[in-house]
Order: sequence, then C-alpha cells, then structure tokens
Amino acid sequence: MRVAAFSVKPYDRDSLAAASAGLPLEWSWFTPHLTHETARLAEGAAAVNCFVNDRLDAPALEALSGLGVRLVTLRCAGFNHVDLDAAARLSLPVVRVPEYSPHAVAEHTIGLVLTLDRRLHKAYNRVRDGNFSLEGLLGFDLHGRTVGVVGTGRIGRRVAEICLGFGCRVLAHDPTPETDLMARGVAYVPLDELLAGSDIITLHCPLTSGTRHMIDARALALVRRGVMLINTSRGGLVDTRAVIAALKSGTIGHLGLDVYEEEANLFFDDRSDSVIDDDVFTRLLTFPNVVITAHQAFFTRNALDAIAAQTIRNLMHLHRGEPLEAVVRA
Ligand code: NAD
Repeated sequence: MRVAAFSVKPYDRDSLAAASAGLPLEWSWFTPHLTHETARLAEGAAAVNCFVNDRLDAPALEALSGLGVRLVTLRCAGFNHVDLDAAARLSLPVVRVPEYSPHAVAEHTIGLVLTLDRRLHKAYNRVRDGNFSLEGLLGFDLHGRTVGVVGTGRIGRRVAEICLGFGCRVLAHDPTPETDLMARGVAYVPLDELLAGSDIITLHCPLTSGTRHMIDARALALVRRGVMLINTSRGGLVDTRAVIAALKSGTIGHLGLDVYEEEANLFFDDRSDSVIDDDVFTRLLTFPNVVITAHQAFFTRNALDAIAAQTIRNLMHLHRGEPLEAVVRA
C-alpha cells in the first residue's frame, strides 16, 4: 500500500521506515507541506501522512479525495489544521496520534519556565564569553509561586504534577476538572481568576474557534504585573500583537513560546541565511525576557518512536480493512 508522507524531515523518515520494516507499506517521502497545490504528489497513494503545518483545508482534502486517497494520517496530536467538516463531507477519515509522550511536552514547558526564571539563555552565553558577572540574572524560587495551568488534559496534568513537586500552588482551568488533581491540591477556578492569581500561566488547551486568542488584550489586563506566560500548545491561543504590547509595558515579565501563530512559514527549517520578513516575530526576538523554541517540545526519541508506532498501526488498519483507531471527528 502506497503512503505519501508530507513535510518529511530525516528524523521522520528514519523512525517511520524503521517502524514499518517488513510491512507492506511503500513510502513516498515529500519535504513540501501538503497544500491543495502539492496534493497531486499523492497520486497513486492510498493514504497520506501529515504534520502540524500541512494545510488540510477543503481544497486540499478535495484534491486528495479526487486522487483516490482513502485515509489521512496525522503524525501529531493536534488537528486544528484539518477542515473536519470537509473531510466528513468527502467521507475521508482522518486519524491522529492522540498520545505519544505528554512527558516530552510537559518537560519542555518546565524547561522554558526554568530558563526564563534563572536567565539560563543569558548565563550560557555570558560564561562562554568569559563574563562571570551575576548582574541581571536574579531569579525567583518556584517553590511557593502560583502556577495557572489552562487545560489539564494529557500534557497539562503532567505540568501540574511537576509544579506540585516544585512546591508550587497550582490553579487550573478546564471544562472537565480532574478529581485526582483536585485531591492533590490543584484548585480549579474560572479563567479570569486563574489569570489574575497566577505568577506563571501555561497554556495546554487545544486551539478551537472558542480558544483562539484566549490571551488577548482583555485577558492581559487581568494578569499580575510581571507574569510569566508560557505557550507550548498552539500559537493561535495567543494574540501576539497584544503580547508584544504587554511585554513593552512590563505587564508580561517573561515569555516562553514553542509555538507561534504564523509558524508554518518559519519553523522546522534552517532560515539562518535568509531575511525573516515577519515583523511581529522579529520584534519578539528583540526582547531579553523572551525565549522561543521552534515547536520542539514534542521532539524526544521516545515521542518519535511512539508517533511512528501509532502511525503504522493506523495505516495497517486501513491496509487490513480493520476498524480505524484514533479517528478525529468534527
Ligand atoms: P488533551 O486533549 O489531552 O487535553 C486538552 C485539555 O484542554 C482537555 O482536558 C480539555 O478539556 C481542555 N480544554 C478544552 N477547552 C478548554 C478551554 N477553553 N479552557 C481550558 N481548557 C480547555 O490534549 P494534550 O495532548 O494535553 O495537548 C494539549 C495541546 O498541546 C494541544 O493543543 C496540542 O496541539 C498541543 N501539543 C503541542 C506539542 C508541541 O510540540 N509543542 C506537542 C503535542 C501537543
């Protein structure tokens, strides 16, 4: 069975090829993103395999369906980039990898918190430059601080657990509170209360029409002055222009991002020799209290192996005519 994989990097190819060794899957590897223009590369494929910045909108899905593609497999958990109504209309099932390593993303989130708090990004360069001064590196103890976790699903709950381990007070906001977290001291509160009462706010809910720009000027008017904001979920949760204004005024004291609303044309590629023409993004890079990683929170060996294993399982269900697992519905 032929599978056309898009947005493929060498590490994707290695892990997917290893996980499918000996199985009747014939891969076509493509580096471009899937769009309605590149969809024709999937000609002859029974399934496609996509990542976070492939554009699975109605025209792309229609093109795939017209070519006879019978399954869209995502090698990610998020599916905000898929037009699920169009997929349903075309009877084109979409499957994902719902859980590969929530630990990977949760641990990276904490890495951003510690980097910003203790200015590790500055300390690293200073010491390499023979500058052993501590001026400007003053941090704070996490112990006793209040962390607000927005979304306590697979990833957010692990962030909450790690923060409890640091001795933090944990506030949470989620339409589905977790009773075991509550029993361990996590307090579920309305979003505005979380925003107003947290020293660190970290986002772990999905991007939907209801959560887009949940951190906007209105939300930022409620936060504690100097708050630390972390987003390892999806860029669209944050109104970046409002965040820049809050950084300039000192409302936000630290910002850690692993995702960016317009990341599709930036992240996952080496652009060090080209001019970045996104003025909003380049403005973010000028702040000393901003650390950005390029959607790397998922990127551990454990996660890549788990993504490949579930992707191959999803594809073999189609090949064998078995019921599909991990189907995403509108
Ligand atoms: P999940 O589905 O397990 O949990 C999401 C939680 O958010 C659920 O408990 C849900 O009830 C809650 N939620 C929904 N709407 C909400 C709202 N309005 N306010 C507060 N909470 C709300 O998802 P997950 O696996 O924990 O992933 C969380 C996010 O992390 C997803 O957006 C995913 O795309 C992103 N992610 C990022 C990376 C990365 O590399 N940066 C990797 C994996 C996942």
